[in-house]
Amino acid sequence: MLRKLIDAGLDVVRLNLSHGELDEHLGKLANVRTAAAECNRPVAVLADLPGPKIRSGRFPEGGALLEPGALIELRPGDEPSDEKLMYVQYDTLLDDLRSGARVVLGDGAISMTVTEVADDHATARIETGGRANGQPGVNLQSDMLRLTTPTEEDLVLAEAMATAGVEYMAVSFVREAVDIERVRDVVGDRAQLVAKIETQASLDNLESIITVSDAVMVARGDLGIDCPIEDVPHLQKRIIRECVASGTPVITATQMLESMISASTPTRAEVSDVANAVFDGTDAVMLSGETAIGRDPVGVVQAMSAIAERAESEASYRQWANRLGRMQLDTDRAVTPGEKITMALSHAAWQAATDADVSAILCCTRTGRTARAISRFRPEARMIGLSPDPRMVRNMSLTWGVEPVEVETYASTDEMVWFAVKTAVEMGVAKSGDIVLVLAGAPDVDRNITATDVLRLVRVD
Ligand code: PEP
Repeated sequence: MLRKLIDAGLDVVRLNLSHGELDEHLGKLANVRTAAAECNRPVAVLADLPGPKIRSGRFPEGGALLEPGALIELRPGDEPSDEKLMYVQYDTLLDDLRSGARVVLGDGAISMTVTEVADDHATARIETGGRANGQPGVNLQSDMLRLTTPTEEDLVLAEAMATAGVEYMAVSFVREAVDIERVRDVVGDRAQLVAKIETQASLDNLESIITVSDAVMVARGDLGIDCPIEDVPHLQKRIIRECVASGTPVITATQMLESMISASTPTRAEVSDVANAVFDGTDAVMLSGETAIGRDPVGVVQAMSAIAERAESEASYRQWANRLGRMQLDTDRAVTPGEKITMALSHAAWQAATDADVSAILCCTRTGRTARAISRFRPEARMIGLSPDPRMVRNMSLTWGVEPVEVETYASTDEMVWFAVKTAVEMGVAKSGDIVLVLAGAPDVDRNITATDVLRLVRVD
């Protein structure tokens, strides 16, 4: 199945650590590596840390029907729950809840509003009813929640998955930049960190969170619980805009092709949603239940690839690139000299690639930074990311439009440029008479280069 998914267009596998045991995830990671090697394709793995998850006490076999308008008592604890009394596995529940707070079960299917908080229980009115089964997750408004991310369990999982060697690690329920930094203290540079934007606080601190993160996820599921659901499309656009401006890869996630968990074709609204995320400028579109428990995972990936490719053929990012160029002139963010060089050179590269109508942009990169820097301009020419580090090659799978390729390490800039052009010709990306653009950080390690500082236009003979 993994081989078929990779052939259908899968670039990154998310392991959702909220479900299952560590051993299972390590087994899945090994399977992904084997399948990717067999398909000869760079596939990145993203381990998604659970964050603080609160569950209810168990509902009876067959579930309990929570009727709209009915009142239900809430108490801290993990004893059995029913339609009149729900236990919540959260010790400080009664200290943190206040009248008017929204409490949501599972993925948002059942919601209630707290009407009263007494010494030993709270009372809530069911707003949207439904059948509560098993032990659903209980979502309390993040501004009332005392639990912070990462949890102790997250840090243990982060260490285990970093040791196992994943490319990305996602941090759930981030509220401020320090939440990312605490995971960074454990993981170091063994994995790149993805901030899941799903709380109001993370929106309030968006700029500082983006600054310390390697990538961002618009986690629309929980975002639509913590914020008014009608805000989600606008927040998606805002988050994507800010990420593209800073060259931070951004993933749009949740319910993209939800109906395909059970149906063979997506709804027209879902097709439009995936296409609109591409028009917004997202680097990646993500599937969750559709591939985890859906009837036809391969069909879903094929459908999503077809929609994304069609949307990309229509999307025009030219005005955007012009605006980004102006924006970086006006930025009031503290910018290091290395960043300034990379920003200026990648902007010049986009302009040169457009003016010379190049057939490819070849990014020679150790860290993926050069590829991210030019990719944020969303150029029309094909972009090839060439790196000697296999982990970075897999890493680039998340960056918009970049086709990653592993190459050798070269001693001089001339040699690097020559081999990049040769690789492009071998890949069929450029042919005799074409112009290609090569962008690189000079390979001289002694100079400790921290910027993209080489731009060449090469005519292929
Ligand atoms: C989300 O809430 O949209 C999300 C991606 O998080 P998870 O799937 O881990 O709940």
